[in-house]
This record gives sequence, C-alpha cells and structure tokens, in this order.
Amino acid sequence: MTQQKLTGTERGWWIVSLENQVWLPQGELPSGTANQWSLQGHMALPIGEWLGETVWLIRHRMTSNMSSPRLIADRDAKLFQMVGRGVQLAEFYRSHRYCGYCGHDMQHSQYEWACLCSHCEERYYPQIAPSIIVGIRRDDHILLAQHQRHRNGIHTVLAGFVEVGETLEEAVHREVMEESGVKICNLRYVASQPWPFPNSLMTGFLADYESGEIKVDPVELISADWFRYDKLPLIPPPDTIARRLIEDTVVLCRQQ
Ligand SMILES: [Zn+2]
Repeated sequence: MTQQKLTGTERGWWIVSLENQVWLPQGELPSGTANQWSLQGHMALPIGEWLGETVWLIRHRMTSNMSSPRLIADRDAKLFQMVGRGVQLAEFYRSHRYCGYCGHDMQHSQYEWACLCSHCEERYYPQIAPSIIVGIRRDDHILLAQHQRHRNGIHTVLAGFVEVGETLEEAVHREVMEESGVKICNLRYVASQPWPFPNSLMTGFLADYESGEIKVDPVELISADWFRYDKLPLIPPPDTIARRLIEDTVVLCRQQ
C-alpha cells in the first residue's frame, strides 16, 4: 500500500493514469522494467498482480497515448480489471486531496486504499456504484435492447444503477419495469464484474418473463424486443458480463 520512488530496475505492468485515462503505447499496457519505459524517478504504488508480475500504478499524464480504458475492455478480463482498479484509484486520490467535512489536507493511508483527514480524522474510501444487469428469457426468446448511451448497433441486456436504500433484487425489478414495461420472476444471481466507467460494480442476474408487453423508455433505450436464441442481432464482445448472461440464456432457450 506504500508508494515508492522507482529506481528503474523494478519489473511488472505499468498503469500510468490520470483523469480516467490510461497510458497505452501501441494500444497495449506496457510491461517490463521501469527503465525500459523511462519511468525511473516516478512514484509508483503496487496495486496487484497479473501473470505473476506486480501491477504498478503511477498517477501521471504522459504527453501522448493517453486513452480510455475502453480501448482494452475486450482483452483478458483480469487485465482489464487491474487497469480499471488503477484508473479508479488514480481518480480517487485526485478527487480526495481535501476533506469534504473540514477542508483540511488529506493523507494516503499506508495500510489500505483510503484517504485520511489530517485534522478531523475522517476516513474516505473509493466510491463504488453498484449496478444490475439482467438476462430475461421468455420461452426460447431473450429480451435485448439498444441503449441510447451506446449508439453502436449492439443489442444487449437491460442494466441500471442501484438507488440508495434499495436491494439488488428490487433494483432489477424496478429497472426492467421502468425501461421495458415487463414484469419478471425467478430472479437468480450469476456473477459480477467491476466496470470502471467511471466506478460501477455490475451484478449479473438471470430472470424469466412473467407478464406485460414491451413499452420502451425512450430516454434510456432506442428499441427493445424479444429475439429467438438462434436469430440474435449484434451482441456485446466476449469477456463481458452482458455476453455471459446472453449465452447463459441461450443455453436455457435451447433446452426449451
Ligand atoms: Zn476533515
């Protein structure tokens, strides 16, 4: 949890990040020694491991090749998870230089990813926003929608943020009703995925159709429809939780 000044001989993966962007020379996350990438002299924080090597975070902006982590969202899920952690920690430290209660300077905890107020001793942690994402099956069909936020032709499952004072299950039922007008049943938890745009944790579910006709919320969705499992439109890439929920639903459709 302690930052150290790089001598140049340190090895590993290098996440250089500031303002939700990450350094991706040639579109890849740099690896090797610090010297190889002229990173000696920078302060670096070890934030995890990938393929047996340390993953380092350097909170800095390079003059070129600073990109959105979306650029590598379709790579190895664990690598993307590490980059997401680095980008979010860099943003956390940047947005917590002063205490929100008393305005005094903050210090970084040596023991955990937290900031401590030097005056009132308030402790701040990185904010994680839980969200839900759900694959809905009706006989041998799946509900897929095109989202207003991503106008890329991809059809995917419904998703949304959990509201304060709400359970994950309540959030799923509410989001599905709000966005599509459909009532669901038989809700099952599947898996989760951190999603650093900017600080979400997606919790994935499967559910069955119960009642109602599709009524699209035009603020959130361009369209939504039932698709037969063997006639799917363009869907999200592998290694995303959306894709996994669609594939799990297709398996259930086939068994119909
Ligand atoms: Zn304070």
